[in-house]
Amino acid sequence: MERTLSIIKPDGVKKNIIGEVIKRFQDEKINIVAIKMIKLSKEEAKGFYAVHMERPFFDSLTNFMTSGPIVVMVLEGNDVIARNRKLMGATNFKEADEGTIRKDFATDIEKNVVHGSDAPETAAFEISYFFNALEIAG
Ligand code: GDP
Repeated sequence: MERTLSIIKPDGVKKNIIGEVIKRFQDEKINIVAIKMIKLSKEEAKGFYAVHMERPFFDSLTNFMTSGPIVVMVLEGNDVIARNRKLMGATNFKEADEGTIRKDFATDIEKNVVHGSDAPETAAFEISYFFNALEIAG
């Protein structure tokens, strides 16, 4: 059993597709064991994306992530890190497979609707960034 962090980014919340994203997880029998809606400060966004600090898009990305509410979730299931990444599709929606969340809803390489942890170590860091043990069911 594995856990991963999922985020519906500000563009996804504005597009009213929270339910659509959650439905895709549930159709895949991925369990949601924690969920909340929050609005990040600039400092909180910078801390979350610290690995990208040197990237040219860091300032733009952290501004975007603070531009409105986000929905953060802990997903649980077998191989859930890879399964969630598959449901999300490639970072650039133009390269994403048909039927993925980003292919269907993203409009921009940055405004790409969802985030998902990419490895067990990043999942552990990212889950603990948003949730304490008491907030995670199961
Ligand atoms: P992910 O794991 O698929 O989310 O992709 P990365 O970890 O490589 O990048 C993190 C996030 O930064 C992406 O989801 C995008 O929102 C944003 N991003 C990635 N590449 C670019 C880029 O070339 N330009 C801009 N503006 N944003 C980018």
